[in-house]
Amino acid sequence: MKSAITFYDRIPERWLNVEPLHAMQLLHELEKPTVVKYSSPNPKEGARWMVTLQHANESSGLYAFVDVWKKLMQSERSLDYDLYFVIANGYGAMAREDYPIFGRRFSPDQIDWNRCWTKPEEVGRGDMPARQREQVEELTSLILETNPEYMIDIHNTTGKNKPLAFVQERYAQGVLVHNLVNHIIYSGVLPGSLLDRFSDVCETVTLECGKTGTFEALYACQEMLRTFINFKTGNEKEKKESPLCYQELGRMVIKENVDFSFYNPNKENREFTEKERGRGTFLVRSDIENFNQTHVHDFGSLGVYEGEEFPLRFLEHGVDKSDEYFQIHGREIKIAKPTYGLLFTTNVHNIRVTELGYLMERV
Ligand SMILES: [Zn+2]
Repeated sequence: MKSAITFYDRIPERWLNVEPLHAMQLLHELEKPTVVKYSSPNPKEGARWMVTLQHANESSGLYAFVDVWKKLMQSERSLDYDLYFVIANGYGAMAREDYPIFGRRFSPDQIDWNRCWTKPEEVGRGDMPARQREQVEELTSLILETNPEYMIDIHNTTGKNKPLAFVQERYAQGVLVHNLVNHIIYSGVLPGSLLDRFSDVCETVTLECGKTGTFEALYACQEMLRTFINFKTGNEKEKKESPLCYQELGRMVIKENVDFSFYNPNKENREFTEKERGRGTFLVRSDIENFNQTHVHDFGSLGVYEGEEFPLRFLEHGVDKSDEYFQIHGREIKIAKPTYGLLFTTNVHNIRVTELGYLMERV
């Protein structure tokens, strides 16, 4: 039977000649979702799974995998559990026509990989291409067959952030996640996500390493993979610091008819140009990504705007709560509630099609 995925029962030897920063060379071999097993000679614990590149523009996990493969093989490390690596969407990461390598979240003939995992009782998305459905189904059965104990799903953000984890509330006090990161976010329901699909099966954690394509995020990812592999089930928390836990409140969307641009808040008294004033431009602080996991009091205003109404909306489960969350002081747009920033970005495309960022509260 022709398989929809590629499975290796050991790390392919030829891959060990590839250096981590040349990991892109492997993409043409990763067109199908690819699973690589690192077998334990004597498994005493349930399997562990590491998934990456569900989002084809979020590359840190792939680079870190190449690094880990070398280290495991060179040290001839023997583990007490079978370890599995998944590279989900090498296909989407490849350059094609208008897109550069790692240039998009998924390709035009796919849907978002992190929205296509269905639970046994669910129907699943009707718009999922047949090829992708086969891939997801085959991957799911393979994962379930191994009796997984832990699973991490590695992502990047388009803005800067400190490493953070999304978990379902039931796992927020889990020892594993406390060892991995200092910032933990209770995940709401996200239908079709890997997190929703496998949290019922095993302790599942979604990790955001930091800004995609940066060394900072790669280092953070390497550190988290090391912790995950060395983690001993049942061990008391080794970290001294206790992590901060948050819950999402809602997201901030710039109004469709509002033009926006960025300004440097350290240069005082930025005047609007004639054109900006004519268009009613919202000037967003260019350091808005520093707001991530930072208290609003320490960060200050979001930007400046000369208009009667807010240039953006605050949406709590789709309901407009702008009046509760925003205030205008002179021409500065401020946040009225003691909250923390999450996933703020200066990526213009993301801001336009999705959001500027989220706010969360400590729990
Ligand atoms: Zn992602």
